[in-house]
Amino acid sequence: MRKIGLLAFMVMLILFSSCKHRGKEFARRTYFIMGTVVNIDVPSERVAVADTVIEVFRLVDSLMSPLRPNSDISRINSHNGEWVVVSPLTVKCLRYALKIGSMSDGAFDITAGTLVHLWHFDTEKGWVEPPSEVIDSAKKFVDYKKIEISGYSVRIGRGQRIDLGGIAKGFAVDLAVDKLKKLGIRDGLVDAGGDMYALGEGPSGRWRIGIRDPFHTDGIMGLLLLSDKAVCTSGNYERFIEINGVRYSHIFDPRTGWPVRGVVSVTVIGPNTVMSDGLATAVFVMGPDKGMALIDSLDEFEAMMVTENDTLYSSGFRDFMSETR
Ligand code: AMP
Ligand code: MG
Repeated sequence: MRKIGLLAFMVMLILFSSCKHRGKEFARRTYFIMGTVVNIDVPSERVAVADTVIEVFRLVDSLMSPLRPNSDISRINSHNGEWVVVSPLTVKCLRYALKIGSMSDGAFDITAGTLVHLWHFDTEKGWVEPPSEVIDSAKKFVDYKKIEISGYSVRIGRGQRIDLGGIAKGFAVDLAVDKLKKLGIRDGLVDAGGDMYALGEGPSGRWRIGIRDPFHTDGIMGLLLLSDKAVCTSGNYERFIEINGVRYSHIFDPRTGWPVRGVVSVTVIGPNTVMSDGLATAVFVMGPDKGMALIDSLDEFEAMMVTENDTLYSSGFRDFMSETR
């Protein structure tokens, strides 16, 4: 039985925009790139800039997609154990990934790509769960500390495989926002399948962003009011693997080698999208105690975690929530 939640089409965070208020009118352009739906909202009279800004996503995809044989990431993986020269942008994204790896004590680990790769899809059998011995031996290759960077050259350990899926969308959103600013746009919204940045103000003051209820995905469990902030969600219900009725997360715990269980979604608010995206994935793996403690130790980030029977908030998260919906 096969089901991969391609609810990328149903972005996790519902936007309340594109209406007219105080004379500010926005228009939206929608694209499908990096395996997800990207929405760019800009003032209506400047809507053409969206087609320029989306090029940033195409560039990041061409450099970092593990599905493109000539991407930097595919070349690093196929030449594991050897130095590979890559683009400065790839190095920058890798450095963020390593930073989140050390902040999360290895819960976020891009060499978990070795584990992700094991859950393959077979056209006849559907998704196939790997035998536990295979997972155990693959787990030995998971260690982000073996990644070396020197200038624009990168070397991963022999047998390792990296995957920037936990951070690349956020990285691309930040580049897109930089591009918008360079083009003179002060208010806008860039949303890559639930990883987004709210620049300036929306149609009626701060951007109003609904947090989708992970148990009832057509409803919302709260409304955020954001300006010059990123908000990113990692969730079980957006992408998953289902085998014989058991739903497996696409986020792996590097300590066990298995998909994380028990956490349903994590939403992180922060000053930039790349760190918020990476931290959402990291906190998802770390779980309620360690994950929320990490967020509470960071001044600029807030988080909300939904588990199977609870909803937890970091100390300042609710300050961003609207009283009314
Ligand atoms: P996100 O949707 O941002 O939480 O990212 C999930 C993606 O991150 C997965 O589809 C994998 O590509 C990758 N990933 C899975 N587990 C980990 C992990 N422990 N650390 C870093 N990346 C991971
Ligand atoms: Mg992430």
